[in-house]
Amino acid sequence: MFLPQEVIRRKREGLVLSTEEIRDFILGVTDNTVSEGQVAAFAMATFFKGMNIEERVAMTCAMRDSGHVMDWSADNLGGPILDKHSTGGVGDVVSLMLGPMVAACGAFVPMISGRGLGHTGGTLDKLDAIPGYTTMASEELFRKAVKTAGVAIVSQTGELAPADKRIYGIRDVTATVDSIDMITASILAKKLAEGLDALVMDVKVGSGAFMPTFEKSVELAESIVKVANGAGVKTTALLTDMNQALASSAGNAVEVREAVRYLTGEYRNARLHEITMAQSAELLVTGGLANDIDQAKEKLTVALDSGKAAEIFGRMVAGLGGPADFVEKYDEYLPKASIIKPVYMAGEGYVSTMDTREVGMTVVQMGGGRRVPTDTLDYSVGMTELCLLGDKVSADKPIAMLHASDESSWESAADMLRKAITLGDSAPEANPSVYKRIV
Ligand code: URA
Repeated sequence: MFLPQEVIRRKREGLVLSTEEIRDFILGVTDNTVSEGQVAAFAMATFFKGMNIEERVAMTCAMRDSGHVMDWSADNLGGPILDKHSTGGVGDVVSLMLGPMVAACGAFVPMISGRGLGHTGGTLDKLDAIPGYTTMASEELFRKAVKTAGVAIVSQTGELAPADKRIYGIRDVTATVDSIDMITASILAKKLAEGLDALVMDVKVGSGAFMPTFEKSVELAESIVKVANGAGVKTTALLTDMNQALASSAGNAVEVREAVRYLTGEYRNARLHEITMAQSAELLVTGGLANDIDQAKEKLTVALDSGKAAEIFGRMVAGLGGPADFVEKYDEYLPKASIIKPVYMAGEGYVSTMDTREVGMTVVQMGGGRRVPTDTLDYSVGMTELCLLGDKVSADKPIAMLHASDESSWESAADMLRKAITLGDSAPEANPSVYKRIV
């Protein structure tokens, strides 16, 4: 007989739970026969005693199966179903390029994404800056867009991994979010419900990262790789740098603009290019569309240079309700802030550190992110031409162009951005863009 309190007691004692115990507990979470207090106690016991890899696999699969799991087998798509997930960052616009790029190489990408959280931007918020684009698509529209464009990026449809939604809500208010075991299961339950063949995980490291230290980022990446493979989805992870913003822009409309310009070749930030290529290549190899990373990069370069990746992005936008000529006329469609002015540091010198979290919070403060979940966003605000670590800045060379809705918002954002940056007498040693690959 299943008794939730027995499962909680056994975990509290540090015992290993069986797959059946975990499955029954998650079933109870889903049908509400396990109470909120019991979920909280289970989360706290797991927080302190941990779960081994088999338990995490069981929890991931049980949460994945608590709702609808997409199945693409009847669609005969003729290519692997691939996706990536990032722990989130500032200027992390990679998904908007990676999706079309790997689709141009023969993959299908049903990407279910999230909204901004804290200082990090959300892929859905960025796409919501495109007039007409439906991030809240029905599953029917989502499937159609994936089949016709090769990629669709939307929000969680209907009842995807509902057990995670309930558990996460309780973890959030019981100080049990930062458990690598539960973070792993929570992230993977949602991703694996997309019916994937392969996944690449981007775990950020540095001042704007979700995990507090390099070691914790490695631990999370290793956990995700082991658990996802244990659940039958080929997965690798890259540890990438978030000691500075990833793109030259941060904000919603401005990042979409940067993504389109990247895809068309109009402008490519070198670090963003390196990380986007690294993750996309990883996926092509894991998904069986390339023999090795070099071949994958060649294919991705063709996808970019031929214009195919940009064309696929355009098809995705049109398929989900956006303008058919968005790629050609993005500047006419994207909202613009009323005040766009350069920000200068007080002195001159080399940009030696960037508090990336504060850069993200500057966008939030201007209205580009949420302080509470009900906040509505100003898609037009943010920053462009953001400096890089090692750049020389002065009274003539700004640290960024700030896009704000009014003068007072611009002034306080400029102040915040200046405080997020320190200058030194010489350029600091460059951080690698990709620290580590975990397989
Ligand atoms: N993101 C998730 O989806 N789940 C977690 O537990 C933490 C971050």
